[in-house]
Amino acid sequence: KVRVRFAPSPTGYLHVGGARTAIYNYFFAKAMGGTFYLRIEDTDRKRYNEQALQDLMRDLKWLGLHWDEGPGCEGDCGPYFQSDRLEIYHREIQKLLDAGCAYYCFCTEERLQEVRAEQEKSHVPVTGYDRHCRHISREEAEARIAAGEKAVIRFKVPETGVTEFDDLIRGHISYQNELLDDLVLIKRDGYPTYHFASVVDDHLMGTTHVLRGDEWISSTPKHELLYKAFGWEPPVWCHLPVILDKNGGKLSKRKGAASVGDFRDLGYLPETLVNYLALLGWNPGDDREVMTVKEMIDCFTLDRINPKSASFDEKKLQWMNAQHIHMCDNAFLKGLMKEGLTKKGIDLSNEPEERLDMIVTLLKPRAHFVQDLADMSVYFFVAPTSYDEKGMKKHFGAGSKVLATLVRDTLAAIDEFKTPVIEKAFYDLAERCGHKVGELVGAPRLAVSGVVAGPSLWELFETVGKEETLRRIDAALP
Ligand code: GLU
Repeated sequence: KVRVRFAPSPTGYLHVGGARTAIYNYFFAKAMGGTFYLRIEDTDRKRYNEQALQDLMRDLKWLGLHWDEGPGCEGDCGPYFQSDRLEIYHREIQKLLDAGCAYYCFCTEERLQEVRAEQEKSHVPVTGYDRHCRHISREEAEARIAAGEKAVIRFKVPETGVTEFDDLIRGHISYQNELLDDLVLIKRDGYPTYHFASVVDDHLMGTTHVLRGDEWISSTPKHELLYKAFGWEPPVWCHLPVILDKNGGKLSKRKGAASVGDFRDLGYLPETLVNYLALLGWNPGDDREVMTVKEMIDCFTLDRINPKSASFDEKKLQWMNAQHIHMCDNAFLKGLMKEGLTKKGIDLSNEPEERLDMIVTLLKPRAHFVQDLADMSVYFFVAPTSYDEKGMKKHFGAGSKVLATLVRDTLAAIDEFKTPVIEKAFYDLAERCGHKVGELVGAPRLAVSGVVAGPSLWELFETVGKEETLRRIDAALP
């Protein structure tokens, strides 16, 4: 049975690349009837950040990527924080020490720096270590530690040969062992390194498939060797291609939005982000683009992950957000609108719900971001205090006055101030005065809404109401 994990280090924000990794793991688990668990890789105590951890879990939940096991959701393979698993790593490292696959290393930071500098000067591979302590016997090492010396524990990597593995996306990969250093497994502070903890946990926590970013592929030969040293079966490897920005660079905060939180703040729905990120590097096998999570899970397979890196296109994301907003139900959107308007200080306590419903229906097709409904609906509640400048030149000029007066009188003469009646009155007026309807609507729209574009004018008038419509036209065109 499939067991996959998302294993973030809580050091910073959740990048969209990381989010996509989580999405693929989640989709794969759901598609296979498997388990998706969250493991917090917090063994780098210098970079650990409590706020990052809280944000990370909030963002995953916001995206709807609920873990079956993990923090707050204990399963059989916990603890799910690596910092709570130190005993396990200490138990497991003994096995490697006993088997002669690991050794204590007493080299100081200064010595390691010298070794690196030396390697950089000569023509040997720069691994950062020269296996200096590899031949110290276990007895001697333990005696030195008992006497108070500090040591790390390193992996005894084979000095020759190749390490090979298959990656579902990259295919067959082989690495020369001589290019690998004797990596540290347990640090001076007693915490495991990422490599060691990751392998031990992936095994003990029953991980069947490791789906992670392509940047980890150079770690995989080390992991393969560790599995071999333990005599464990490695998981299926699947390294996901990177996400680039539109110029082919790394998608980074320095250049704009890059984290899940950034896109939430910009007004994207979680459904959009999940849909867009999923399709960035995977396809459903047909030309569907706007999809629900369920639709994607129903057809999710790993073989349709694209091996080429994908480029992030914010325009496309915007388009998709509009599509998802159109798919939202009106009650939900009304809630968003009310929240936004209240934040703007607009008092809605006396607003009839039917009127709010009507406004949502009117504006929904024009919304691209979640805040748009509130932003675009302000004039339904308060009269504009300024007008679009270009619009003023065009619609409030001297020549428009006559037409505007005609329009005003026409509106004033309507008894039943309803959309079809208003519409008909405009068409009749156009015919009577020999103008196109399009020429008649610019000025009253600007007068009533302050802007030049918006929903159907007849509905706008009905929703604003007769009295207020006339009042605003009089105020704008005295
Ligand atoms: N903790 C690693 C990260 O921050 C996990 C890498 C992996 O999935 O093995 O991405």
